[in-house]
Amino acid sequence: MEREIKVLENIGKANDLIAEENRKLLDEYGVSAFNLMGSPGSGKTSLLEASLADLGKNHRIAVVEGDLATSYDAERIERLGIDVLQINTGGMCHLEAASISKALNHFDLNEVDLLFVENVGNLVCPAFFNIGAHRNVIVISAPEGDDKPVKYPVMFMNADALVVNKLDLIPYLDVNLDRIRQDALKINNKLNIIEVSCKTREGIESWIGWLKSQIEESKRSE
Ligand code: MG
Ligand code: ZN
Repeated sequence: MEREIKVLENIGKANDLIAEENRKLLDEYGVSAFNLMGSPGSGKTSLLEASLADLGKNHRIAVVEGDLATSYDAERIERLGIDVLQINTGGMCHLEAASISKALNHFDLNEVDLLFVENVGNLVCPAFFNIGAHRNVIVISAPEGDDKPVKYPVMFMNADALVVNKLDLIPYLDVNLDRIRQDALKINNKLNIIEVSCKTREGIESWIGWLKSQIEESKRSE
C-alpha cells in the first residue's frame, strides 16, 4: 500500500513537470488554453460547436480531442473548418500532460491563439492530471442530476468555470439548479457558473463572454 502511494505520487510529480513545460510553451507563443472536462454526453463537443464560429472571427483556434476510441468528435470539429488533433488514449480514461505535449508539437503554434482540449469523458481522474492549460472548465448537463458537485468534489475544486448544459430539458426533469449552484460554490467559491443550452443557444453568449475575459487575463499574466 505504502509503495503504491509512493508510485502514484511520483507519477503525479512527473506529470506536473510536463504540465509546467506545456504552459511555458503556450505562453511563449501567446496561446490561451482551455481544458474541458465532464461526463460522456454532457455536451463538451456541442459546447465547442456552439462557440467556435463566433470565437473564430477574432482568434485562430486549434482543438485537441481526447477519446478512448473513435474520432467522431474530432470529425464534428473538423466540419467547422477548425484545425483538430485526435488523441485516442487506447482505453486510458484521462489525458496526461505528456499527451498534450505531443499535441503541442503537432500544431504550428505561431498560427494558434486559442487551444481547446476536450478531455476524455469522465468526471473523476481528469481532475488529477494537470495538463498545463490556463483554465479548467467542467461541463455537466441537467439530466445528470443535481448531486454531481457533492459526489465528484475534486473535479469542482480544481476548476475555473462550471458550465451547466441542456437547460432546455429542465421542464422535464426533477433537477434543482439552485442545489447545483450552491453545492458547487461551497466546494469552490471562485467557480464561475454559466448555464447554457447548446441546443437553443440560451446562455452561449455568457459562455463566450467568459472565455474572452479569460483570454485577456491569461495574456496579461504571462
Ligand atoms: Mg465529446
Ligand atoms: Zn483516468
